[in-house]
This record gives sequence, C-alpha cells and structure tokens, in this order.
Amino acid sequence: MVDTEFERIKVIGKGSYGEVWLAKHRKDKKQYVLKKMNLGKASKRERKSAEQEAKLLSKLKHPNIVSYKDSFETDSGFLFIAMQYCEGGDLYARLKEQKGVPLEERQVVEWFVQIAMALQYMHERNILHRDLKTQNIFLTKSKIIKVGDLGIARVLDSAGDMATTLIGTPYYMSPELFSLFGILSDVWALGCCVYEMTTLKHAFNAKDMNSLVYKILKGRMPPMPRQYSADLLVLMKSMLHQDPEKRPSVNRILRDPYIKRNIALFL
Ligand code: ADP
Ligand code: MG
Repeated sequence: MVDTEFERIKVIGKGSYGEVWLAKHRKDKKQYVLKKMNLGKASKRERKSAEQEAKLLSKLKHPNIVSYKDSFETDSGFLFIAMQYCEGGDLYARLKEQKGVPLEERQVVEWFVQIAMALQYMHERNILHRDLKTQNIFLTKSKIIKVGDLGIARVLDSAGDMATTLIGTPYYMSPELFSLFGILSDVWALGCCVYEMTTLKHAFNAKDMNSLVYKILKGRMPPMPRQYSADLLVLMKSMLHQDPEKRPSVNRILRDPYIKRNIALFL
C-alpha cells in the first residue's frame, strides 16, 4: 500500500486528475513525488490514460526523463504513481523567476539539448509525448532537465496507428490528419519551449482561445529575440515551421553543427 511505504508530507502541485504529493519513502528515507489520480470518478478513457502513464513511465529510463519508482492502485479507486522528486520545480516557474532578465545562451542550449535528448529517446521507441510544455519539464536540485507528465503520451505502432484508433480505417482521411499529433508535433512543442526560454514569453499568445488558434494557424513566425546567435534562431524557426514535414526530427536537431559544438562545450 502507498501509505505503508511512503509518508506523505505535503501537496506540491495540483494535477488535472488529483493532487501531486511530496512524500518520503519509509525505508530509503528519500523524497519522492506521488501523483494521485482518482480512477473512480474517471471515464474509461481517463482511466486508461492514467494507467498508460504509469506503464510508460516505468519503461522509460533516461537521464532527462523523470524516473519512475512504483505505482499503486487502491481499493478506493485511486492510482498513485511514485516518481523522482525534482526539487528545482518546473521550467515554467523557473523562467518566471527570471523576471524578464534573459537567460544566457549557454543555459538555453544546455536545457534545449537535454529536452531534445529525452524526446529522442522517446521517439526512437515510437513514443510521442504530446504534451510537451514548460510546465511539464522539471529541474533537479542540480538544474538537470527531467521531462515528465506522460499523461497523454502514446505509443505509435505504425504510421496509420493513430489514425485507425481515432476513426477506424482511414479511407477518407486527409493528409493533414495523418501528421496530426505525429512525432513532428513534439518538435513544434520543443520549438515553443525554446522560444519561451529565449524570450520568457509564449511563442503564441492571445487574450482568448479563438484569437490564439487564429494566430497559430495564420503561420506567422513570432518575433525573434535579439540577444541570441543566428544559429540558435535558425534552429528555433525550423522547429516552428508551419508544415510539419519541413520541421527537423529531434535526431537531426542533435546532429546540427551548432548544437554539436555546444554539447562539446558543456561535456
Ligand atoms: P498534470 O497531468 O495534472 O499536469 P503533472 O505531472 O504535470 O500533472 O504535475 C502537476 C504539477 O505538479 C507540475 O506542474 C509540477 O509543478 C508538480 N510536479 C509533478 N511532478 C513533479 C516532480 N516529479 N517533481 C516536482 N514537481 C512535480
Ligand atoms: Mg502537467
């Protein structure tokens, strides 16, 4: 049982399905996070998604992905996922702390590369994150990136898999639907995260949902920040390409000469 193994300390976050607890393992005395999800109240789909998150996370082992400890289903219908506690909080909150002071390019690239490596590891296994955003990217005490919240991540078995689960056999499906939520959507989201790290603002922002959707669809590149190198801006723009086919894969991003030069610097 969860409470015989862990001592719950305090609520540190509010998840979409329940609280996120900081807890201490009674045996190893280390701190962990318990993500609590109410399966009793959840729809069938939500239940599947919660169970999927535990299953996926337990399989993924990468230095830049939140590491999984255990999961528990209680008789009262709760699922608890125990995972590594990231003391640095989420990247969204971290960027807020900058209070408008831009991060150094070195720092941006270091985090960019770490997020990209987590994605590369997932994409190699045909897993899409699908909810990459600064609020789902965590930092450890020593400021290492840990990508988390695999709540809506999916395993892609084949190119048409997503399509067939959505609509049956895709006789009438348009080309744009095939690329919907593909691997290159994660790259778009990565571009948005890098944009946020360089400007401390959302790449696309508006006062309401309609105007936000309009802005994203209009295909205009958001204004680029000034204090960063042309190499970084070119990469950022390529990830925010309207046409998914024109976006680089995460593999290609990590083979980019500018990125490789930087990796060599912080190794
Ligand atoms: P949801 O699916 O509801 O968005 P998340 O997994 O993103 O749930 O967790 C919600 C919030 O709880 C996060 O934004 C973060 O502030 C906090 N949190 C979640 N997991 C961790 C963790 N491993 N370490 C530190 N904080 C976490
Ligand atoms: Mg989240």
